Amino acid sequence: MIRFEQVGKRYANGHVGLHELSFRARRGEFLFVTGHSGAGKSTLLRLLLALERPTSGKLLLAGQDLGEISNAQIPFVRRQIGVVFQNHHLLFDRSVFANVALPLQILGLPRAEIERRVSEALERVSLKDMGELLPADLSSGQQQRVGIARAVVHQPALLLADEPTGNLDPRLAAEIMGVFEDINRLGTTVLIASHDLALIARMRHRLLTLQRGRLIGDGEPD
Ligand code: ADP
Ligand code: ADP
Repeated sequence: MIRFEQVGKRYANGHVGLHELSFRARRGEFLFVTGHSGAGKSTLLRLLLALERPTSGKLLLAGQDLGEISNAQIPFVRRQIGVVFQNHHLLFDRSVFANVALPLQILGLPRAEIERRVSEALERVSLKDMGELLPADLSSGQQQRVGIARAVVHQPALLLADEPTGNLDPRLAAEIMGVFEDINRLGTTVLIASHDLALIARMRHRLLTLQRGRLIGDGEPD
């Protein structure tokens, strides 16, 4: 699914985001990326989303070379990916249903298909009967689950998350990680950037550790 071959990212101001990063992730894997602020986690996610291009090395997503694709191909690359943010970026003046439906409306799917897929996505995050509510009616854990439903509603092969539990207490954080595991069990590759080492250690998935743009660890956490 993902193949980094000595990928480097140097920003225009000379900052090194990533330095000769190499790793592969198979389809269906679940992995964490950790590291201090400035380690390169966001750079890694932005390269996968083709928001940035590598300045050296080779980056393949589902066999496609993200350093070589044309700008016109970028939207098609992004359709294979779902993204969950720390602050979920929900629209607070629209219902839960409308928030989750948004990516499908952008794809121009027929209304009946949208309704079917949104209901399915809400069911996957245990918010089955909450579509008509507004995000403000939900707890912060439920809001984050709406963010996850919206990220998976177009059935992406890869789900990326950037500090998805950053604002949640430990119990809710563990619950949200359980939702990611459920989604992974259905075949979606999941890659989560997180600082929460205690939570990561309990989950026993593959962990990539970055330090100043370099990979310094790859394996199960100790
Ligand atoms: P975090 O530590 O939570 O990952 P950062 O402070 O590293 O957040 O980055 C927040 C945002 O600012 C990111 O979008 C990143 O690309 C951008 N950013 C970080 N460092 C710089 C920089 N030196 N110049 C411009 N933008 C930067
Ligand atoms: P993290 O997400 O782990 O905090 P980042 O990928 O944001 O790390 O940052 C890695 C390095 O790249 C840092 O030195 C940061 O300042 C730099 N950086 C990140 N984004 C930008 C940017 N847009 N412009 C310039 N430098 C950046």
